[in-house]
Amino acid sequence: MTAAQRPPAPDAVVVGAGLAGLACALDLSRAGLRVALLEASDQVGGRMRTDRRDGFLLDRGFQVFNTSYPQVRRRLDLKALRLRPFTPGLIAHTSDGPVRLADPTRRPGSAGELLPGRALPARDLAALAGLVAYDTLLPAGAVKRRADRTTSAALDAAGLSRRTIDELLRPFLAGVFLEDRLETSARFFHLVLRSMGRGTLCLPADGIGAVPAQLAAALPPGVLRLETPVGSLTTTGVVLADGTELLAGAVVVATDGATAARLLPGLPAPQTRAVTTYYHAADAAPIAEPTLVTDSALTVLNTCVLTEVAPSYAPPGTALVSTSVLGGDRPDVAARVRRRLAELYRTDTSGWQQIAAYTIDGALPAMPPPWPLSRTTRTASGHYVCGDHRATGSVQGALASGTRAARELLTDHPAAHRSAALTAR
Ligand SMILES: Cc1cc2nc3c(=O)[nH]c(=O)nc-3n(C[C@H](O)[C@H](O)[C@H](O)COP(=O)(O)OP(=O)(O)OC[C@H]3O[C@@H](n4cnc5c(N)ncnc54)[C@H](O)[C@@H]3O)c2cc1C
Repeated sequence: MTAAQRPPAPDAVVVGAGLAGLACALDLSRAGLRVALLEASDQVGGRMRTDRRDGFLLDRGFQVFNTSYPQVRRRLDLKALRLRPFTPGLIAHTSDGPVRLADPTRRPGSAGELLPGRALPARDLAALAGLVAYDTLLPAGAVKRRADRTTSAALDAAGLSRRTIDELLRPFLAGVFLEDRLETSARFFHLVLRSMGRGTLCLPADGIGAVPAQLAAALPPGVLRLETPVGSLTTTGVVLADGTELLAGAVVVATDGATAARLLPGLPAPQTRAVTTYYHAADAAPIAEPTLVTDSALTVLNTCVLTEVAPSYAPPGTALVSTSVLGGDRPDVAARVRRRLAELYRTDTSGWQQIAAYTIDGALPAMPPPWPLSRTTRTASGHYVCGDHRATGSVQGALASGTRAARELLTDHPAAHRSAALTAR
């Protein structure tokens, strides 16, 4: 190819097609820039991917989709995702047996299960209702402006009893933070409570990977380049892992935090949390409802029958059970999980077939207090960096960080923006 035939260098290269990179590339493209979105793997989505295997949909680590996130409402066609809801609330296995924690405003028939003396003592019920009301009803800005502390300190300050924290809240929140000491930023905890109070937890019928797939489908043709890992950055662009140099007006690093720290020397690598999700196939669903089940013994973080949420997760006549544990897949864990599932579901699990186990080492950034909920994406080297590690470890955080990168880049390079717009006319 001669120099004249070579396509012009992109105005911006975005490295990584997870949610942050997709949001960034979409906004830059919509602003008229020529964008190259370079993704190392064979698909978009990063930590939000779904494998299809033998008729099963296997999300790469169990996660739920929340409809109330502002970025989700702004960017996604929820109807096209064919969302299948979980029941509001959960079943918490405590040392005294299972209790249902339901939101009585959404599940009127279950209001009695939250009466004082059943799931919660009256004082705890009032404290929890106060927390939920404060976080749900106040503007998000008020939640964000609060001084930060650990979630554990925030729960103590709210007046909740040790028993309610340990038996009900810790097991649930450990599944959200992927740590069970509740040392995660209370600011993030309040935002989680807010999103749960305002939205619905659900799963797309085609698996969690349908979310990034929908974003990718909105990219202009030719923007996305799969199986194109970036090896390093230069002052004028990027060098691909195969040594090819790609010139670009600006570079946005939208990878996970560890890779971002390698590509951008000087950027600290965030601590991360690991989780393992086990998938078991059973002949029949051990519980006939789309409900999350938690475990106060913390042997497992949470479990649910995915096919009760969305039957499309398994071939007809098979139930798919998802169960997550903190950390990696050590040899003894799988057997312990199976035994615990027998207790939680009160059924014989010896015939269940383990069809997959996914360990995600850098599943979430650790978010100790004080945790800035959003950070500039500008770096000292003139490149940009975005991703959940620059905001919050969540779908909302990743999308918001990608949005911010595009906004800051467009502010810093108005000429590229203008000339691209003129070319497009
Ligand atoms: C098991 C699990 C459960 C979760 N549960 C929830 C939940 O219930 N609710 C919620 O809101 N959030 C949840 N999350 C968090 C949410 O999925 C993440 O915060 C979000 O997907 C992160 O997106 P990202 O774009 O920042 O990063 P990533 O998804 O990590 O994307 C980075 C991309 O960069 C690519 N890349 C890396 N290196 C290179 C390179 N050198 N060159 C080119 N490309 C590269 C990667 O392949 C990847 O596609 C969960 C995450 C996990 C793993």
